[in-house]
Amino acid sequence: MSARSIARAVADERRPAPAEPDAARQFVNQWVEAEALGGKEVRAFVLILKTRGCYWADVKGCSMCGYAKDTLGRSATPDELAHQLQAAIDRYRGEPYVKVYTSGSFLDDREVDPGSRRRILGAFAGKAHRFLFETLPEFTTPEVLAPLSEVFPGEIEAALGLESANADVLSRLVNKGSPPEEYFAAGDRVRAAGMRAKAYLLLKPPYLGEGEAIADVVASVGAARAHFDSLSINPVHIQNGTVVEWLYHRRRYRPPWLWSVVESMTEGAALRGAARLVSFPTAGGLARGPHNCGRCDRRVLAAIQRASLTQEFEPLRELECGCRRNWETVRSLEPVGVEA
Ligand code: SF4
Ligand SMILES: [Zn+2]
Repeated sequence: MSARSIARAVADERRPAPAEPDAARQFVNQWVEAEALGGKEVRAFVLILKTRGCYWADVKGCSMCGYAKDTLGRSATPDELAHQLQAAIDRYRGEPYVKVYTSGSFLDDREVDPGSRRRILGAFAGKAHRFLFETLPEFTTPEVLAPLSEVFPGEIEAALGLESANADVLSRLVNKGSPPEEYFAAGDRVRAAGMRAKAYLLLKPPYLGEGEAIADVVASVGAARAHFDSLSINPVHIQNGTVVEWLYHRRRYRPPWLWSVVESMTEGAALRGAARLVSFPTAGGLARGPHNCGRCDRRVLAAIQRASLTQEFEPLRELECGCRRNWETVRSLEPVGVEA
C-alpha cells in the first residue's frame, strides 16, 4: 500500500457526523499545565473548543494528526461557541497564560466566526497576560490579525505548525498543504502585527529514522529562528485514526526515543538565535508517545521540561541510562548517510 493510499484510507474514517446542538455547546476539554512566561514558571489555562475543525483534514490531513475526531462535523454557531466559552470561564482561575485550541485554525472563519473570536479574546482581557491560539499560515492576514489587539491588550501569540523547514519532508511525509516559506512569511506577518509567533517542529514524521528525524528538526530550528519568537519541538505521539497509527499497528513506526528529544534540544540550542527553544512532549513515557526504556523516562522528561522553562540546556548532556546504548545502536543500524 502506498503512502498516498494509506493517507486516503485513514482520512475517510476520521470526520464525525454533524453534531446535535447539545453536543455543540460543550467544549472538548480543559486543563491547567505548566508554562514559562518571561522566564518564570506559570500556570497555563488550556481550552479546546469544539468547532468544525481543520479544513485541511478534509482535503488531505496531516499524517500524525487525529484532531478531526474532536470536531463537530459542521461549523459551530456563535451561540454554541458562547455556551462553550461561558462553561470555560466558569473554570478559569486567573491563570496568566491562556491557550485556546480549536483542533484547527482559530483564525479560520469557518471554525470561529470573527465576532466569536473577539468575544473569546475579550473574555480574558485584563485577566490573562498572554493569549495563544493555533492557525494555518494562510489565515494570518493583517485584516484578520488587527481586530484581535483591539480586544485583548496583553500579548497575543500565534502558533503555526511549521513541522519541518524541509519542503519534501513537509509535503510528502507530514502532508502539509503549504511550503515552509509560507510559514516563515506568516511568522513575519504575525510579528509585524505586534504579536508573538511560535512554530511547532515535528520530531520524527513517519518514514524517517531517529537520526534523520533529529537532523531534520535541528536544521529546522536554524532555518526558522529568524521568523519566530519561540520554537517548540513536538515529538510525534500516536493519535487515533492517523497514518502514523496505521504504521504503528503494523510495526512500521516507533515514536521517537526521549534521547532523540534530548539531542534535538542540545543541538538545536546552538542554532536557536534569539528564539526560545522548548519541548513539552505529549504522552511522554507511554508506548504511544516518545519514550525510552521505562526506567529513566520520568527523569528525562523532567529534565526536558526544566530546560524548556529555564533555557539552560547543558544539564541535558549529563543525563545517563543504560538504554542510551540501545538508542545509539538503533541509530547505528539505520541506513548509512541518512543524516547527511
Ligand atoms: S496538523 Fe494542523 S493542518 Fe494538519 S490536519 Fe491537523 S490541524 Fe490540520
Ligand atoms: Zn533508560
